[in-house]
Amino acid sequence: MDFKYYLPTRIVFGLDCIIKEKELLQELGGSALVVTGQSSARLSGALDDICKALDSLKISYDVFAGVNPNPTFDNIRTGATRARETRPDMIIGVGGGSPLDAAKAIALLATNQVDVEDLFKGGLSRPALPVVAIPTTAGSGSEVTPYSILTYDALQTKKSISYPSIMPRVAFLDARYTMTLPRAVTADTACDAFSHALEGYLSSRANPVSDTLAREAMQVLGKRLGQLAAGMEPDLEAREDLLYAALLAGMVIAQTATSVIHALGYPLTYFKGIPHGRANAYLIEEFLHFNREHLRNWPKLDDILDFMQVNSIAELGDMLRNLTGQPPKVTEEELARYAHLASQAKNATNCPMVPSEVELLVMLRNALLA
Ligand code: NAP
Ligand code: ZN
Repeated sequence: MDFKYYLPTRIVFGLDCIIKEKELLQELGGSALVVTGQSSARLSGALDDICKALDSLKISYDVFAGVNPNPTFDNIRTGATRARETRPDMIIGVGGGSPLDAAKAIALLATNQVDVEDLFKGGLSRPALPVVAIPTTAGSGSEVTPYSILTYDALQTKKSISYPSIMPRVAFLDARYTMTLPRAVTADTACDAFSHALEGYLSSRANPVSDTLAREAMQVLGKRLGQLAAGMEPDLEAREDLLYAALLAGMVIAQTATSVIHALGYPLTYFKGIPHGRANAYLIEEFLHFNREHLRNWPKLDDILDFMQVNSIAELGDMLRNLTGQPPKVTEEELARYAHLASQAKNATNCPMVPSEVELLVMLRNALLA
């Protein structure tokens, strides 16, 4: 056996964890920039808790609110300007994957006098400011990954950067913050977590530790996604499970990265405005069919169906459609463009059977036009 595993994040999970473990913030300095989305940081109660903790520790702070879902370069530039002006010791992201990813990019630009676009070229001279992550969705797992995914208009898609220094130093996970999630966002983000666990499990970069985490994530999600698809309203216990599974799945992709499903999903989000997790969910069934066709005796495929408590790939597809509804209307020309963009994405190669551009197009067609 031969593998590497790196996770520098101190994970604190549980109800009221910010208040109970607030001293961890003190180790990171005496001032903070808090980065949030539009309104959910306040609505969820997370912003209030972190502000109380910072006040009681006498850590000064400024709040930069208004990061969009699928953060734009403009979001990051505005946040970076604020960070360069106020010179905080740490950046605290509060919200779904979007504000967390924005916090990470801002943390890099606070210490490096370059433009957002330069983050994609690598070779920065300084590490990022320390990042603290407080998720209010149960999906992205960004609280434990070295990635930040931004909307890259010049390339007409979403693209990720990866730096060890943006792995959050501390992640506070309190499922109470996810209680205000609307049903659709709960389902979309849970599908994102499932996609992370599944892509990581089938990745050519998987290792024994990431596989263990992926199996546990999928076992928890098998139960909870089934309940969501059956129309159950998640209670606090179910919310804790979803947050736990999303965390584990984030720990998986922190090692393996994502793969074909994410590469195909990004253009759907960019061109059609489909929420990230939902875009992935539309593509999971076809990705599994593709693998089944090419890698017939691959026990990992059967494992996934077992974990998800379904008998076939088609049954899993039905469950996901119950959660996401029907896919958007697309044309052949649009699909050809998405397949081309996905074929250029680095993560499309992280699997034992790398699909060609034509095979990517077939997957898209089967998923969205059938
Ligand atoms: P999101 O884009 O952060 O948020 C989606 C919506 O949910 C927003 O309208 C947000 O409102 C709302 N929301 C968030 N928390 C809420 C709460 N507790 N109650 C009510 N509404 C709430 O969603 P996400 O799916 O978590 O993140 C998706 C992003 O993460 C994508 O850009 C994706 O590419 C990225 N991602 C990153 C990684 C990584 O490793 N870095 C991995 C996977 C995905 P507000 O605007 O008011 O906050
Ligand atoms: Zn994702």
